[in-house]
Amino acid sequence: MKKITATIITIGDELLIGQVIDTNSAWMAQELNHIGVTVSKRVAVGDEWEAIWTVLDSEMPKADIVLLTGGLGPTADDITKPLLCDYFGGKMVVNEAVLQHLHYLFEKVFSRPMIQRNARQAEVPDVCTVLHNANGTAPGMWFEKNGVILVSLPGVPFEMKGLMTNEVIPALQKRFELPVIHHRTLLTAGIGESYLAERIKEFESSLPPAIKLAYLPHYGMVRLRLSATGFDKDQITHEIDGEFNKLQAQLADVLVTNKDEPLEKVVADLLLAQQKTIGTAESCTGGHIAQLITAMPGASQYYKGSVVSYANEIKTNILHVAVSTLQNAGAVSEEIVIEMVKGALDVLKTDFVVATSGIMGPDGGTPEKPVGTVWVAVGNQKEIITQRFKFRFDRLRNIDLTAINALNLCRKFILDQSL
Ligand code: ATP
Repeated sequence: MKKITATIITIGDELLIGQVIDTNSAWMAQELNHIGVTVSKRVAVGDEWEAIWTVLDSEMPKADIVLLTGGLGPTADDITKPLLCDYFGGKMVVNEAVLQHLHYLFEKVFSRPMIQRNARQAEVPDVCTVLHNANGTAPGMWFEKNGVILVSLPGVPFEMKGLMTNEVIPALQKRFELPVIHHRTLLTAGIGESYLAERIKEFESSLPPAIKLAYLPHYGMVRLRLSATGFDKDQITHEIDGEFNKLQAQLADVLVTNKDEPLEKVVADLLLAQQKTIGTAESCTGGHIAQLITAMPGASQYYKGSVVSYANEIKTNILHVAVSTLQNAGAVSEEIVIEMVKGALDVLKTDFVVATSGIMGPDGGTPEKPVGTVWVAVGNQKEIITQRFKFRFDRLRNIDLTAINALNLCRKFILDQSL
């Protein structure tokens, strides 16, 4: 069966100068991968007629599908639409359905008058099939030439996603006979990528050629993903499941989850299973742990709140940390995070509390406590455990690392308490 390939082209000067990070093509690539389309190339070009034309000329003969995002707006630099009209040899016509949708958006959603510039969004080349953009004004456009499909989508991420999910993906699945791609993912903690690779080298070398293993390290944890592609869904699922079970068994001591889910979901499920609640007392992470926890739907069932005790007076006034401990041990110390846990357990009245205190940089380090020194404590009314970390990155990465490692300590503590 033929492999179906795609090229993704993102358009916009802002992408070339790094003002906007191209998240569109990463998301689109994942979606295409899920349905068995192989993304063979991703390209970014500026808002320049010549550059876009050249990239189309070079990519159209190589792929089955070319996806474009960006440059469809009502401003002068948005040249994608007239260019595609010329490229596919059409002329611009008003599409009544798009015009009606524009009237609806301006009258009912935006509540402002539609000017001529906006109305021109309803003009489309007469050689394309229009794709309905429920979330915005610029329609998607589906063209075909010499058996190659080209789809042009708006650059605004949530508009592009709506169009991909509701229009493009179903149409591609109808059009092509696509292979099945099956993934199984697990997450490990407490072991570096190279040690992990060493530990499972025999497993890896004995994998059947159709099954690929990927290492996806992220903030001190490593995700391992097995993938296989084929046309027989049952056979692929059976093969990959067999290998996945072997891998899981070999990594039981460092396994966090055998599902493709974030650490905060693992912690959430543990708390839900035990019907327990958690609170946070965050100094150096400034609420980042709270943010990760509350990003999960249903967090209100197990998360009560946070004391962002960044300043020492909040630690003493609200969490009742002793002034003498601050003076003797310093704000970044094991003693302080222990007292923060105790204070927050009283104030928040949760079953568990996690507390953080650290020096995130770039300033504030000393020879004894350099930038990146972090103390984390997790506890309940019976017991408190602590861990010291030494991160060595920039401020934001240190904050992310602290939050992830603190959540992992929560996971271990909650698990131990249930034994
Ligand atoms: P619309 O007509 O709906 O405004 P458009 O097709 O004109 O969309 P652009 O003007 O190119 O889209 O981009 C709109 C905004 O979308 C940009 O300012 C940027 O914030 C975002 N955007 C564009 N391309 C990308 C991309 N590849 N990845 C992430 N964001 C993007």
